[in-house]
Amino acid sequence: HSCRVSHQYFVKQIKMNMQYDGPTKLFINGEFVESKSGKRFKVIQPSTEKTICEVSEADLQDVNDAVDAAEEALSGKWKTMGATGRRDVLLRLADLWEKESEELAKLESFNNGSPINLSMYITKDLVNEWRYNAGWADKIEGRVVQSCKNDLHVYTRREPIGVCGMIVPWNLPLWCLVVKLAPCLAMGNTVVVKPSELTPLTALKLAEMFTRVGLPRGVYNVVPGYGPTAGAAIASHMRIRKVAFTGSTLIGRTVMEAAAKSNLKIVQLELGGKSPMVVFPDVDVEEAVKLSQFAVFNNNGQLCTAGSRTFVHSKIYDEFVQKASKAMSQHVVGDPMDPKNTLGPLINKVQLQKVNKYIQTGKQEGAKLLGGGDEYKGQGYFVNPTVFANVKPDMTIAKEEIFGPVQSIIKFDDEKTVIKLCNESEYGLAAAVLTNDIGTVFRLSSSLQAGTVWVNTYHETLAQGEFGGYKQSGIGREGGPSGVEGWTLCKTVIVKSKL
Ligand code: NAD
Repeated sequence: HSCRVSHQYFVKQIKMNMQYDGPTKLFINGEFVESKSGKRFKVIQPSTEKTICEVSEADLQDVNDAVDAAEEALSGKWKTMGATGRRDVLLRLADLWEKESEELAKLESFNNGSPINLSMYITKDLVNEWRYNAGWADKIEGRVVQSCKNDLHVYTRREPIGVCGMIVPWNLPLWCLVVKLAPCLAMGNTVVVKPSELTPLTALKLAEMFTRVGLPRGVYNVVPGYGPTAGAAIASHMRIRKVAFTGSTLIGRTVMEAAAKSNLKIVQLELGGKSPMVVFPDVDVEEAVKLSQFAVFNNNGQLCTAGSRTFVHSKIYDEFVQKASKAMSQHVVGDPMDPKNTLGPLINKVQLQKVNKYIQTGKQEGAKLLGGGDEYKGQGYFVNPTVFANVKPDMTIAKEEIFGPVQSIIKFDDEKTVIKLCNESEYGLAAAVLTNDIGTVFRLSSSLQAGTVWVNTYHETLAQGEFGGYKQSGIGREGGPSGVEGWTLCKTVIVKSKL
């Protein structure tokens, strides 16, 4: 299953102390430019705490320039090349991406500390995202409407929204960007992207790649910078017509508020989660333990879909806990660029302190620590994988998003109660059910309030399928046909045969 899939790529050449010589400026109207203020910010490598480079810092003035360029590009070559032209550019990009995916993956892990095997897996998989969405460029269609009025001929068109903004986080910078960008461009929009101030490098590298495949200038603009300045400028811009945001629920709310207060732009939000996994007693316990830890430890626990509540049936609870304790010791924490390591560092000190604090809270509230939980003393923002048993649903660690490698194992006795407990959260991004009983699969998958329900697997997403949150985990869907339609406006044309 997926734990193994993500480890199948072998990195041939690892540069532990990779020297960065890629772009470090804003990308506006097809060119790398300094920010108007001349300010720059440091980009840090989380495994060593060393500075990788300094990047130009965008603020309102630069966002305005980027929007000007993006607006102009809407009516230029991008428009005349039409749907098939867009398809071809995106397919050329997909080919280039496929060739350079290892380099991209290395740069991603170097900058954000994701284990290299995971970055390799995701980056290669994103080729599907480019090709799937490129294919939609010349296939999106309107409808001919059955009119109840005989003299009216009615049809609909799917049109681009215009200039779109994207604000993305640091945990999976490329994935979060590409799932938005590929359908957005396929549908003929232009874009201003603000990557996280912690991880701006791969979005800038992509700018170089777009230039090589002939994307017209002004279609893709990148404005690295901070949230309250560059991010807020996008969210409240009067000429940006849609903003797609991935990040915390807290900031998602701010983005939505800014959109409402400015020009009522369309808002798409992919937010946090506290996703449950429900383990029924008919499964192979050892396999279930492995999958449950993959669910919560993958990417060092820094995934919006992290399986951070493990509900285990009372019949197998003791065996599960004992095996979880043993399995935990098999994870290897270390340099994310070394494929032998399964966990890398957290992104920064703030995140490290936050996770350590949750571990302390777990102990104080009476959960049983099976292992981990000790503070890492060396360089880099590392946390040892931590497993708590005897967790009660009302404990802080069972309710709040930790965003670190901390597993909480909770006992349950019956299906009805566990469904209620799963659904008690205000989050609803994902959920998982581990069972071989088909009836249980159908009952649980229809009762759980989550945008994705995995059965006997975890963390699988695909270009062809929708992804997004219920409740406070988000608004809108990325991926699949809904993801594509979300980057269009529907226009109804009503034609009367005679004046
Ligand atoms: P964050 O909300 O702090 O930041 C996300 C982005 O918003 C960054 O680019 C940041 O600079 C920007 N930002 C900050 N303040 C802003 C403001 N006032 N206006 C506009 N933009 C602003 O989140 P993070 O710490 O970077 O990422 C972690 C969070 O992201 C977690 O909660 C995680 O669950 C969530 N996440 C969700 C998904 C999903 O698909 N649902 C995927 C990945 C991460």
